[in-house]
Amino acid sequence: MADNSHQFDMPLVFAVKHKELAIRMSSRSGGVFTALSDYVLEEDGVVYGCILSDDFKAVHVRAENANERNRMRGSKYIQSDLRDVFKAVKADLECGRKVLFSGTSCQVAGLRSFIQKYYEGLFCTDILCHGVPSPKVWEEYLAWQEKKNSGKCTAVDFRNKAEHGWEAHIETLTFINRKKVHSEVFKTLFYGHAILRPSCYKCPYKNVIHPGDITIADYWGIDKAKPGFNDNKGVSLVLINNNLGESVFKAVKGNIDYKECSIEDSMQPVLVKPFDEPVERVHFWSDFYKKDFEYVSKKYGGYGLENNNEKQKAEILSPDFFVFPYEKVKSGKRICIYGAGNVGENYYVQLNQNRDYQITGWFDSNYKKYSSIGFPILSADQIDENDFDYIIIAVRNKTAAEEIRAIISQKGISDEKIIWDIIVDK
Ligand SMILES: Cc1cc2nc3c(=O)[nH]c(=O)nc-3n(C[C@H](O)[C@H](O)[C@H](O)COP(=O)(O)OP(=O)(O)OC[C@H]3O[C@@H](n4cnc5c(N)ncnc54)[C@H](O)[C@@H]3O)c2cc1C
Ligand code: SF4
Repeated sequence: MADNSHQFDMPLVFAVKHKELAIRMSSRSGGVFTALSDYVLEEDGVVYGCILSDDFKAVHVRAENANERNRMRGSKYIQSDLRDVFKAVKADLECGRKVLFSGTSCQVAGLRSFIQKYYEGLFCTDILCHGVPSPKVWEEYLAWQEKKNSGKCTAVDFRNKAEHGWEAHIETLTFINRKKVHSEVFKTLFYGHAILRPSCYKCPYKNVIHPGDITIADYWGIDKAKPGFNDNKGVSLVLINNNLGESVFKAVKGNIDYKECSIEDSMQPVLVKPFDEPVERVHFWSDFYKKDFEYVSKKYGGYGLENNNEKQKAEILSPDFFVFPYEKVKSGKRICIYGAGNVGENYYVQLNQNRDYQITGWFDSNYKKYSSIGFPILSADQIDENDFDYIIIAVRNKTAAEEIRAIISQKGISDEKIIWDIIVDK
């Protein structure tokens, strides 16, 4: 990779959308992180970033391939646990591997200060960062939701773009008993700022100069900057901070749609100064430790307010919503889905919501029709036993399921690896 020593006085600014709609829909903004990390993986590099673990904690991990990297997609609005990744990054660099490290600006600055020397293979992206909420508050929020909804949580989407659009901010939680809750309580606590980590009120990166080679963000203000570019499915703001960032951006241009913009049209509060520590922070923490979460959610999270109640709707999922068979397929497994209709789409969306599963293929006999609407559907000819631990048949009709099972079996796939979990239509 090129030298990153030439830091620009002002960043080059772009609005970016990944060309593949399915990638954009699985990403928080315009999917630029996938384009940048694909480039590093194709160069036999490794990618470090934040995933949501099986028990819904934000942790940094290392990815060697696209499936592992895909779990990093989506914003987790809590402080991530870096564990030992700085040491692992250094070890990879010492071995001559190319490395993409992604995280908040302070995590990128922390990594640079930890490794202390210039490595040609290191490329860093930082996210524009509003601040990170306390994981402890997130834990209590989750426990409160599970109690209220009488079941373990099976999927979390911190900001449900698929159902509410890119611009809205509504968190969605799905539970084992098929309930799904759309809520704004955690979002309201986040934007109230009392739950941010103390260092965030003194953040030294709240300006246009950043420690990443490329800084990525949501492009708020896109309608004014580039009218017509926004389709409410996500646009990334990209700040290119130095020569290295510029050369990597150039290398990924084939996979993205982009427009050059001005920094003046791209400003948002986090590019100006840190948020003030709210005066009620001390009261919040006192209440948090002394009272139950129901009290905290009402006093600080807007829970119970008239318009919030409207959005805090708990639905029992309709018979047309199909919950992925979590009971039969334990986490950590590589999954292929066969079927791209309603059921397949439901499974795909759930597994993409940061759950600890890897989707390694999605098949349908009518693959041409579905691929043309932007989803990555493959033909049955491409089924390869080595690619998955389980293949899930995603149709509701028993006869259709049996036909699909026969097609899959013909490929030499053993019966234990094929799962069909729905008995609706005979
Ligand atoms: C806590 C937080 C606050 C943010 N605040 C703002 C803001 O004020 N303004 C704004 O424009 N954008 C903000 N963002 C950034 C934005 O939401 C997207 O992360 C960014 O635009 C990348 O989107 P994408 O479509 O390219 O990628 P995606 O594929 O969705 O990328 C996800 C990237 O975010 C990283 N990531 C996710 N969660 C965390 C976390 N908890 N800690 C560290 N890294 C994480 C992953 O490692 C990955 O690199 C924030 C993100 C987070 C996590
Ligand atoms: S606001 Fe600043 S200090 Fe807080 S997590 Fe983000 S980059 Fe780090």
